[in-house]
Amino acid sequence: MAQPITDTMTGTFDENDPAEAIWSNCLQTIKEKINTQSFKTWFEPVRPLKYNNDELTIEVPSQFFYEWLEEHYYQLIQTTLHQIIGKRVGLVYSVRDDSLFDNQTVLFNEEEDIQKSKAAAIPFNDTPVNDTAKIYVANFQSKPPAGVNPMLNPRYTFENFIKGDSNQFARAAALAVANNPGGTSFNPLVVYGGVGLGKTHLVQALGNQALGLHKNIRVCYVSSEKFTIDFVDAIQSDRVGDFSSYYRSMDLLIVDDIQFFSGKEKTQDNFFHTFNTLHQMGKQIVLSIDRPPKELRGLDERLISRFQWGLTADIQAPDLETRIAILKLKSESDDIDIPQEVIEFIAVNVTSNIRELEGCLISLLAKASLENKDINTDLARDVLRVVVSDVKSPISIEEIQRIVCEYFNIPDDLIRAKTRKQEIVNARQIGMYLVKELTNSSLKTIGLHFGGRDHSTVIHSCQTVEEQMKLNQRFRDTVSQIRRKIEISSGR
Ligand code: ADP
Ligand code: MG
Repeated sequence: MAQPITDTMTGTFDENDPAEAIWSNCLQTIKEKINTQSFKTWFEPVRPLKYNNDELTIEVPSQFFYEWLEEHYYQLIQTTLHQIIGKRVGLVYSVRDDSLFDNQTVLFNEEEDIQKSKAAAIPFNDTPVNDTAKIYVANFQSKPPAGVNPMLNPRYTFENFIKGDSNQFARAAALAVANNPGGTSFNPLVVYGGVGLGKTHLVQALGNQALGLHKNIRVCYVSSEKFTIDFVDAIQSDRVGDFSSYYRSMDLLIVDDIQFFSGKEKTQDNFFHTFNTLHQMGKQIVLSIDRPPKELRGLDERLISRFQWGLTADIQAPDLETRIAILKLKSESDDIDIPQEVIEFIAVNVTSNIRELEGCLISLLAKASLENKDINTDLARDVLRVVVSDVKSPISIEEIQRIVCEYFNIPDDLIRAKTRKQEIVNARQIGMYLVKELTNSSLKTIGLHFGGRDHSTVIHSCQTVEEQMKLNQRFRDTVSQIRRKIEISSGR
């Protein structure tokens, strides 16, 4: 059995920071009690940070990780720590993935504090959707103050909002606002993007998170259509005063799809005053629009100029990798097993928006179950034919490598090898460049496929190829010939 830290500390451990020693002692014990796979998965990535005031701080890679440890290993860790240190100590988690919970440390000391701090810091229910799902549903909300109905759908969370280049900026801004409504310079926060790209999801996730993080916060989500209809009702029933003071009492007001305000002058006027009142009081306003604000017609100039007070962040169409990640998440959360190649097939072909992506997934499932067929690429092709005119197969990185090597007449594996022979380096650089041009793979993925090189090597290779293409006509022809071969091979 591991020794209490107070006995072993002298001499062996750094008196000032025994965290390292405590944790490694703890790991030895835990290793004997759980299977190797679980140990590797859940304990090896954990880092001890500090031990003081009877509290051990450990760093975990992500929010999800923390929840898993809490749910499955809390008792084991506590008992082990107790054995090692000889008394009960607090366990403090620090989440490394600070993109989700900026600088947030979750404190656990006593049983009752657990509930409290969970309620304060984590807007998630710690029950997984099902045994295998890796997604947690954020259905925890702190109770809104009496008389406020936030009108938020708890399904929309940051946890299940896939981050990609296309939405990274808007997502980060939304997170910052959720963590500190009214306290950032992003006021108003205006999210704009085309249909089905995730505006509603994002602004509702913001609302849900704010509600989970801040006690008694008055949050209200409303579509501009509902706002308009309610306003007209209020006029008819002579309750405009009530209507206005309700919205003007919010700490966080989210108005979705404000393009529908176009041409509705009275409603806009009311909203304009609501906006001003809230802004003056330092309350947070979040808006979404389906096009860049300056292209909005029929919207009050005064209102549009207000947007410049805050931040306008756009959501673009998702790239291939993001589309794949979204499809994976959707299929996992619905607990359906879809082969990777089918996911990629759909992601390559459905490029317009995420709602359509989801639509294809649903049609595919429906077809599979109605016709009692397996979910495979052929079935997906049938489904997609209805939606997409020109169905493509994804170009794989391997296929590109094969064609490049064939062109230069070099063995396939050399393009991934360490060799620095000029002709190989040349082929490898062209290969990386074409993968980047033709597949939407991330720099990291490309590097991995070319013998585990890092992303800066990939950037360098692509730049070299681009430079040479500018300077050298023959080189340019070579690259376009190879490119053409790849396109023909994948039926483009
Ligand atoms: P918009 O309001 O821009 O028209 P929505 O927010 O309604 O789009 O998004 C359409 C669908 O796509 C929703 O089901 C939403 O959950 C999903 N979705 C959008 N963006 C993402 C994302 N980044 N990750 C996961 N799902 C997403
Ligand atoms: Mg929407």
